[in-house]
Formats: sequence, C-alpha cells, structure tokens
Amino acid sequence: MSKRSPVWHPFHQHGLEETIPLVERADGALLYTEDGREVIDAISSWWVTTHGHNHPAIVAAIQEQAARLDQLIFAGWTHRPAEDLARGLTAIMPPELEHVFFSDSGSTAVEVALKMALGFWSNNGDPRDRILVLEHSYHGDTIGAMSVGERGVFNRAYSPLLFDVDTIPFPHAGREDATLSALEEACRVGNVAAFIVEPLVLGAGGMLMYSADTLREMRVICARHDVLFIADEVMTGWGRTGTLLACEQAGVTPDIMCLAKGLTGGSMPLAVTMATAPIYDAHYSTDRSKLFFHSSSFTANPIACAAANANLAIWRDEPVLDRVANLASREKAGFDVLAAKHPITNLRQTGSIIAMDVDVSDTGYLADIGLKMREGFFARDILLRPLGNTIYLMPPYCITEGQLGQIMSAIDETLSEVL
Ligand SMILES: *Cc1c(COP(=O)(O)O)cnc(C)c1O
Repeated sequence: MSKRSPVWHPFHQHGLEETIPLVERADGALLYTEDGREVIDAISSWWVTTHGHNHPAIVAAIQEQAARLDQLIFAGWTHRPAEDLARGLTAIMPPELEHVFFSDSGSTAVEVALKMALGFWSNNGDPRDRILVLEHSYHGDTIGAMSVGERGVFNRAYSPLLFDVDTIPFPHAGREDATLSALEEACRVGNVAAFIVEPLVLGAGGMLMYSADTLREMRVICARHDVLFIADEVMTGWGRTGTLLACEQAGVTPDIMCLAKGLTGGSMPLAVTMATAPIYDAHYSTDRSKLFFHSSSFTANPIACAAANANLAIWRDEPVLDRVANLASREKAGFDVLAAKHPITNLRQTGSIIAMDVDVSDTGYLADIGLKMREGFFARDILLRPLGNTIYLMPPYCITEGQLGQIMSAIDETLSEVL
C-alpha cells in the first residue's frame, strides 16, 4: 500500500480512498499485491485483458519485438508487425473494412473515426457537421470522445469545450420504436455526418443492453439516409459479447469501426480505426490538402503491434469463443442464485458481460452503495467496480470455476453486509 504517493489516479477521489493496492505481478485472472494478497481480477483490469494476464505467447512476442525494433515514425514508414497486423485484421473483420488506421487508445480511435467521417464529407464537397449519438453512451475521455458521450458529472466542468450533438433515446426493451423513429427524424433533418454507437452493450453507461434487431434497424436507417455508421467496438470487440464483434450478431457492417482494449489481448496500448473503401478513397488524391490529418507519436508502435499479432494467433489456435460461451453460462448460474436471494433487478447478460442492479433508492454512478460494495469485494480479494448500484462481471476468459465461485461468494456476503 502506498500512501502520499505523488501519483494522481484516474477516476479516483484521493480525498476518500487513501489506500491504493500495489500490484507486483499478475497471472491469468490473478493479481499479486506487494503485501502478499491474491486478488481475482473480475473486470479484466477495466475490460482490457481478454485471455488472461501475461499470456505466455503475448509476453514472448513483446520480448522478441522489443529486442528487434522498439519504435518507428509511421508517417511514410512502415514495419512488419504493422503490415502483418493490418492484413490479419482485414482477414477476420468484415471484408468491407479494407483499411486500418492505427492509434493508441479507445478514445483516440474514436477521435480518428469522427475526423474520418467529417473528412469524408468535406473532401467529397458535401461538408456536414452533425453527429448523432445514443443516450447513455461512453466513447472515451478526450474532448471529442466526451462530446459524443453522455453528459453528466463526468464532464460537467468541461462542457463549454464539448461540441453539440443530437442524442437518440436509448432503445430500452419495448421502447425500441421510439429510438428508431427519433433516429429516422434526426437523419431526415440533414447535415448529419455520422451516427456513433456502442453495439449491443453500453459499457460505462451502466452495462445497458439492447437487441441485435434494433442495432440492425439503426444501421438500415443510417444507410437509407446516407449517414455514416460508426461502431465503437472498443469494449464489445474480441469476444466479450459471445462473438468476435458485437456487430456480427446483427449482421451489421459499419462504415467505420473502432477497436482497442482487447486488440493486444489487453497487454499493450494499441487501437485501430477500420474504414471502408469510400472513406479511404475520399482522402486518396494527388491533392496534399486532402490527406488524413491525424497522427500521434506512438502510432502503430511495433511492440504493441507484435502483441496484437500474438493475440490474433491465439484467436486462430485456441477455442476462444467456446471458452466465452462456457464462462457465460457459469456466470448466469451464479447470478441467478444471487438474484433469488437478494433484492436484485434487471439481471441481464450479453456473452461474457453479465450485470444486475441492486434495488436501492440511491442509484447513479456516484451512489454510495457503489463504493461500499467495492470495499466489501476488495476485503474479500475480488477486484470489482460497480457502476453505481450496478454490479457486473467482465472477467478474463481463462477464469476458473473455483475463482468464479469465490466471486459469487464475495458478492453474496457483501450484499448481506451492505444492505
Ligand atoms: C473504454 C472505452 C473507450 C475508451 O478507450 P480508452 O482506451 O480508455 O481511451 C471508448 N469506447 C468504449 C465503448 C469504451 O468502453
């Protein structure tokens, strides 16, 4: 435990939570702390670790690449790990997504997607400036990504800097028609560059889930009105929802797609924004002013790309989706027992993501019960971070039966304690 460290932590109120565990190493679903604890990482270190921490093949790829080529300017230069990764991605992602643009986080992948959409319309001589978003969305914490996300306590102080968007109501079960007609209406007004969505599951917004049919209908409406469809698969990608991509379950191919978190198996910061030929072609010209004006220092870092290539090999060689299906059914069995015993509402699941709400009057992200439960879980050696009164699991796919059992017991005991 480190006190009075100069480190300023993200999404952390240092005035309330002083002790911060120091993790020395990890393996599979386990985190080993400096003071000798073994903590089960039930949220994949914030949704990134897919196969498990320190997967040997990914570790080996990182070590090998680090010794060969650590970093390279990517404007007008290239390297084998990036070339292999781009080809590997286009081989397994929807075939229309022919082009791969690299960046280094989910937020930057979203910024890139928004800039691509605006650039597409501008370069084609039909400039448009409206972006449509789904209510309760989260797309990252940079200014552009915040602008297309839910407004609230997270970004109130920065709101003067956020650009204006049009918000489509979330498609709650039974109220999908309201969403679809609002989308249709917003598209009809015109001047809409793109609609950005988290497919099937809205993560930070509270693990809110909606149907594949609705996703498909939203895509159809955008196509009909010539509005670009951006899928933010940063959380939902890489098997989380039971398929490689959430969009697959709706038979949807977006015009632009963002991937990050699990792209390297969760081992290194890397993101891609994939785009169709028309998006790329709008920037392809002999006119230098039409090039895509975006880069960051570590674009397509070779070590991160090597880690992502090792991730693709794992997807080729190991039964990842079988593992996810198996995990999903064990999670469901555990949550059913908890929901029968405690005051729980809205039990929901999409693939390996399972969530339920504790029935209390104080809800929302800053609800007191969230922090109380987090402390209760941690006291029982479980890393879980409820979103307000919403408890969810998103473990690495390697998690064992025994570890899942420990998580269920910790939730059971913690609920009895805090309620
Ligand atoms: C986490 C997340 C992001 C932001 O990714 P970072 O790598 O944290 O910048 C964007 N979109 C979604 C859907 C996410 O879950």
